[in-house]
Amino acid sequence: MENLKNIIRDVPDFPKPGILFKDIAPLLQNKETFHQAIDAIAAQWANQHIDVIAGIEARGFLFAAALAYKLGAGVVMIRKPGKLPYKTYSITYQLEYGTDSLEIHQDAVASGQNVLIVDDVLATGGTMKAVIELLQNFNANICGLAFLAELAFLNGREKLSGHKLTTLMTF
Ligand code: AMP
Repeated sequence: MENLKNIIRDVPDFPKPGILFKDIAPLLQNKETFHQAIDAIAAQWANQHIDVIAGIEARGFLFAAALAYKLGAGVVMIRKPGKLPYKTYSITYQLEYGTDSLEIHQDAVASGQNVLIVDDVLATGGTMKAVIELLQNFNANICGLAFLAELAFLNGREKLSGHKLTTLMTF
């Protein structure tokens, strides 16, 4: 797993001064590391009877689709406002400065389905917390939360207590 961690590129001051951005593009574009990452996350969620994997726009989609294929599940898109064509549920959540929103189709998840939520990086946990709330619109079972990487110093995990959470690497 060290090779996966080492291939992630640090980009200082992106998207704004003071943020050290973990750029996963090199991991995605390399055929060995992408394959290894998907296989390793899939192994963490094997035999859990997951019906759908909800990916968070945009990098979460890349993991959700590959994992869903591997685990024999469907894929659900959690998107930024105004992108989904059908009726949506929406959640607005607090950012450091201002607010953001995410949407999901109202028929994206059926009653009783097992849902795994996926994103690339767990930072403050605010996004994932909002997505969990968004999924409360459905009578579904959230099996857990899967990330490629966690920025532990931001304590995002604390916001997500009560849910099974996996990550392949910690910074
Ligand atoms: P948060 O809501 O703070 O957990 O942030 C979650 C989203 O922002 C994830 O979808 C990440 O892709 C992205 N993100 C936040 N901070 C970083 C970072 N330092 N490096 C890379 N991605 C980040």
